Amino acid sequence: MNKRSIEALADQPLEGMRALVRVDFNVPIKDGTVADRTRIRAALPTIRWLRDRGTRVVLLSHLGRPKGKPDPRFSLRPVAAALELELGMPITFIDDPTSDEAVRTTRRMKRGEVALAENTRFFPGEEQNDPALAARFAALGDLYVNDAFASAHRGHASTEAVAHLLKPAVAGRLMARELTYLGGALREPARPFLTVLGGAKISGKIDVIENLLPLTDRILIGGAMACTFFAAMGLEVGKSLVEPDRIGVARQLLERAGGKLILPEGAVIAQQLASDTPLRSVPRDAIPAGWAMYDIDERTRDDFAAHIAGAKTIVWNGPMGVFETPPFDAGTLAVARALGSATAAGAVTIVGGGDSAAALAAAGLVDTVTHVSTGGGAALKFLEGKTLPGVAALDDL
Ligand code: ADP
Ligand code: MG
Repeated sequence: MNKRSIEALADQPLEGMRALVRVDFNVPIKDGTVADRTRIRAALPTIRWLRDRGTRVVLLSHLGRPKGKPDPRFSLRPVAAALELELGMPITFIDDPTSDEAVRTTRRMKRGEVALAENTRFFPGEEQNDPALAARFAALGDLYVNDAFASAHRGHASTEAVAHLLKPAVAGRLMARELTYLGGALREPARPFLTVLGGAKISGKIDVIENLLPLTDRILIGGAMACTFFAAMGLEVGKSLVEPDRIGVARQLLERAGGKLILPEGAVIAQQLASDTPLRSVPRDAIPAGWAMYDIDERTRDDFAAHIAGAKTIVWNGPMGVFETPPFDAGTLAVARALGSATAAGAVTIVGGGDSAAALAAAGLVDTVTHVSTGGGAALKFLEGKTLPGVAALDDL
């Protein structure tokens, strides 16, 4: 996926051009204001880069699932207010990006000005990847920049069709960063290349394991996912979260993996999921009936940390336990800290997945790793080796 990025346009005369930028401003809204500005901040490097070169910046994004028609609950107006605070300047709001008036508005903008258009999903053509809607979007710019990695796994009018109609069509700085780190890890990883997988379900991650098995040197498995593998090994798992219909797949993966899959040696177990509940640490073959695994045990944390310390590229997706309910966050924190130490020692460390990123943020460890992906589903699709339509449509290098 060698795609052209805006940085490649640095020597071209961009001054006065209208840059149509697809961002992912799908942020949580509470009581009419943006509750978390992380995604807005993630787009600032691209917006600033374009403003510094005298372009006029027109932003497109979706928000929530308004089902193809206007719905005030999903208006981007609160996002415009948050963006004004972040940029310290007024933002022009475009109510109907499909109107002739919208085109006139973008033509009236001054160099360095920024406009935000209303939710792309207010139009039925968006999710249908409708070329007619894409043409309306394309009329708002003189070049197209896609900085919405988290939306790139969807082939929508504002992410896919528009990139065929408005050229050049390039990756924004956030998008380019995602492609560099995730793509680099899969294409030419410094070795040993280690993958750490966790989370609730094996079902959503089978394709990731399939794709990574030949590429990665080892895959560490934690989270409830491990329990389905335990069941496949014939172990008693008590009332741990297991996907009975995936035990067969887990067994096949174990057979094919040839020692590449590393499972926890032991579990932290409890009879119920609560912070004040009595817990025990047991070897994996000693989980009693009525008890459930909610975290990896200390021995496994040390084992995983040692694997991480010995690797040069590490991709982590999915928490090691029910990190939302301490003390079952200990295994996840141990892995997060080990990643930080590995980064300090020169390894490239990449975290993908909404919950893993949230755990990292809650522990204040975001800056200790090389890259935290902003794409939950998109990052997973990427790790599955699938083509992301929003990326594929951009200009090749
Ligand atoms: P990500 O968003 O990082 O890709 P997932 O969505 O796959 O991660 O999984 C996150 C969820 O997995 C969390 O809500 C966490 O509580 C749950 N989980 C992890 N380990 C266990 C476990 N042993 N039992 C039950 N749930 C678990
Ligand atoms: Mg999740």
